[in-house]
Amino acid sequence: MNVLGEIPGRDKKLSSERIIIGAHLDSWHAGTGAADNAVNCVVMMEVMRLLQTLQLPLRRTVEIGLWTGEEVRYLGSWDYVEKKVGHIRSGKLHRSSQKISVYLNLDNGAGKIRGLFLQGNEAARPLLSQLLQPFADWEATTLTIQSTTYTDHEVFDMWNIPAFQFIQDPLNYMTMIHHSNMDVYDYLLEDDVKQNVAIITSLVYHLANIDQMVPRKAVKSDER
Ligand SMILES: [Zn+2]
Repeated sequence: MNVLGEIPGRDKKLSSERIIIGAHLDSWHAGTGAADNAVNCVVMMEVMRLLQTLQLPLRRTVEIGLWTGEEVRYLGSWDYVEKKVGHIRSGKLHRSSQKISVYLNLDNGAGKIRGLFLQGNEAARPLLSQLLQPFADWEATTLTIQSTTYTDHEVFDMWNIPAFQFIQDPLNYMTMIHHSNMDVYDYLLEDDVKQNVAIITSLVYHLANIDQMVPRKAVKSDER
């Protein structure tokens, strides 16, 4: 079951537009799934808690999705996207999907954020570059045009919703931790995780308040 939550936007015009952040709740069976992906569910929940506790004014609605079944072909995010973005079999795009500005996904372990995979969306680079600038000292401003796969942002990207996965320090995630019996709490670095919360909170705050939505990839309609 997906866990969804939202903080409604306060701007009459923009509150129907949405910024969505997400991570996945399910995990592999060998360890406890601390790095893949409980820690990043905690990060995203903490982002929402900060926005709410600080009563930061938000023009757009901010939504969190903690997805089920990511490890079994994105079952949770797929279901959400079918209902809210577009119906895969019929190819029909839901009208409300045009109100989704961006989906941000965190699922590369517990290492520090270093930037974003642009997923082929060059049009989003100037805006995201500007929003990441405050974190230049933390070396978190890399924007690669490359796409990355094997996590939930792909399902949004299929419909050309601007959908980005964060670049993170690899640590020993893919070599040791991922889907192994070492995916446990002991391998999480608390300071890195707190830093990740700060970066995403700032990004979400600005994305919810700037005048524009995140630009979509330029595609001809017959290419969909
Ligand atoms: Zn994962």
